[in-house]
Amino acid sequence: MRKGQKLYSILRFKCPHCHEGPFFENNNPYAFSKLGEVRKECPACGRSNHREPGFYYGAMYVSYALAVANFVTMYVAVTVLFPQAATWVLVATVLGAQLLLGPLLYALSKIIWANLFYSYQGMARPQPDRAR
Ligand SMILES: [Zn+2]
Repeated sequence: MRKGQKLYSILRFKCPHCHEGPFFENNNPYAFSKLGEVRKECPACGRSNHREPGFYYGAMYVSYALAVANFVTMYVAVTVLFPQAATWVLVATVLGAQLLLGPLLYALSKIIWANLFYSYQGMARPQPDRAR
């Protein structure tokens, strides 16, 4: 995994434009005081992380997909590894995993959403077009 790949930005919570600066106010997704707060602009390259007001509402779709993937993974894992497990164990495991991974999935959904719309451009800011 190297700089320039979207996975680099997503897994390291780096700015989707330059892959240098931090994307969140606090890069620890379990820091509840700044849970999932995206920086207005990158401290390294200065580019904005907010395309328009309410831009990150769209991250709900990604969050939903991640939650369903987590739910299915945990359900299959428990039913395959512990076929004799009681129903309450299955429900507790699935819900417990969802609660424990919630903040991480929330942060991942926002940075995945940002990476769908922003691409790697390096550190240099684009020059304004002087012809117009
Ligand atoms: Zn940046």
